[in-house]
Amino acid sequence: MKKLRYLLLLLVYITGSPLTTMAGDVPSSDPQPKYIFLFIGDGMGLAHVSMAEALLAERQGKTGIQKLNMSTFPVMTFATTFAKNRYITCSAAAGTALATGEKTSINTIGMDSARIHPLQTIAERAKAKGMKVGIMTTVSIDHATPACFYAHQPDRNRYYEIGTQLLASGFDFFGGGGFKYPTGKKKDRADLYHAVAEQGYTVVKEQKTFDTISAKSLPMMVVNPVLSASSDMPYAMDSIQGSFSLSGIVKKAIEVLDNPKGFFMMVEGGKIDWAAHANDAAAIVGEVFELDKAVGYALEFYRKHPDETLIIVTADHETGGLSLGWAGTSYESDFTLLDRQKVSGEVFDAKIEAYKKRTPASMVRYDSVMRMIATDFGLGTDIKLSKYEEEQLRRAFRISISGEKESLYKDENTVLYDNYDPIGITARKILANKAGIDFTTWMHTGTPVPVRVIGSGQELFNGFLDNTDIPVNIIRLLRLQAIKQ
Ligand SMILES: [Zn+2]
Repeated sequence: MKKLRYLLLLLVYITGSPLTTMAGDVPSSDPQPKYIFLFIGDGMGLAHVSMAEALLAERQGKTGIQKLNMSTFPVMTFATTFAKNRYITCSAAAGTALATGEKTSINTIGMDSARIHPLQTIAERAKAKGMKVGIMTTVSIDHATPACFYAHQPDRNRYYEIGTQLLASGFDFFGGGGFKYPTGKKKDRADLYHAVAEQGYTVVKEQKTFDTISAKSLPMMVVNPVLSASSDMPYAMDSIQGSFSLSGIVKKAIEVLDNPKGFFMMVEGGKIDWAAHANDAAAIVGEVFELDKAVGYALEFYRKHPDETLIIVTADHETGGLSLGWAGTSYESDFTLLDRQKVSGEVFDAKIEAYKKRTPASMVRYDSVMRMIATDFGLGTDIKLSKYEEEQLRRAFRISISGEKESLYKDENTVLYDNYDPIGITARKILANKAGIDFTTWMHTGTPVPVRVIGSGQELFNGFLDNTDIPVNIIRLLRLQAIKQ
């Protein structure tokens, strides 16, 4: 017996893991979850979640944090996100890493970095194993992150081709946004919604049907009744009437996908990223809360099936270079100021656009714009503006109305407003700054992202990870095989 133990220990020492000898073999001691939730907060860095948690605490008059569901998970670590050919990644390369376990090049969807060979995804392998597969997002369903789980394209902008691969995937449940170009960019292709229905999918576009659908209606595609021009869902903070919520869709997906062979679900909070690009702190918080509410439904499911469920919450990259702390407020912060913002930047910018359209140029007034800012951000009311801030707003107003960049320096224009309307972006930045928050960029950053895990197999996620380790662990736990072509 002693000798056997010694031999086993020697084996562990040599191979680095107990009882794995041949490639592809899985230690028999590994747990075997069969319900996998992979939540991806697009752009959701550590500060995005901390900001939401600090705001929750402050609303109750406390300094500190009130934990979201995701922060109660027992395993919490970080993952690097870099792409094969660039340190600061994009959602396509990062999504491919999370879906396949392979690094690829910027803008590539589910293919190798040379864009020659498709890479099999964990969702495809789970489907081939007989599990049910669901893909959900708040942005269009053909957007980079969801696409990486079912499509293989050399360029993330090939939306129509991605849509056709959604059809070919045979996955059981799609939910959230719609197709960005249902009939192609030039509107000259066959309608993808028709094709989805012809393929046997139940296409759900209204509340009444949504309430009554069951597993019998699978496969199905839930398309939010309210979509923007780019087919994404409205921001949660705007509570647009008639819109579904991401958490509601996830709750429904759990109901209909639950089956004895298990399921794999990828849920993306896609507009956390968009809000962060737009330096819109209040909208970020609303999207984080909504994603976390969806995580709450997954947790409920986990509590019923603790030995068979694994939940992972992570991000594809950080967006905005968000910091809790700003040079102008020293060590002070007041996150509840974010509650003064009534609408997302997206909605506010549309209001400004409409005001400019309906008002002759000679009649456009700074005071009118300031009233809009006061209503939607509380700025200039009891939230007093400093001379410096007022000057920032006046300048933004001039530039927005004239359409002329005042700075001779291209880089200064980029740093100030990028391509956003100067008025909205300046108002959002001032409110965030007053709250003690700042953004360093309009883009993604290369900071590693948090990975939170609970459930069967959670211990595999300990230690500092790379994003590719996440699907590799899922493959190992689900005993997923390569699909024979
Ligand atoms: Zn982004």
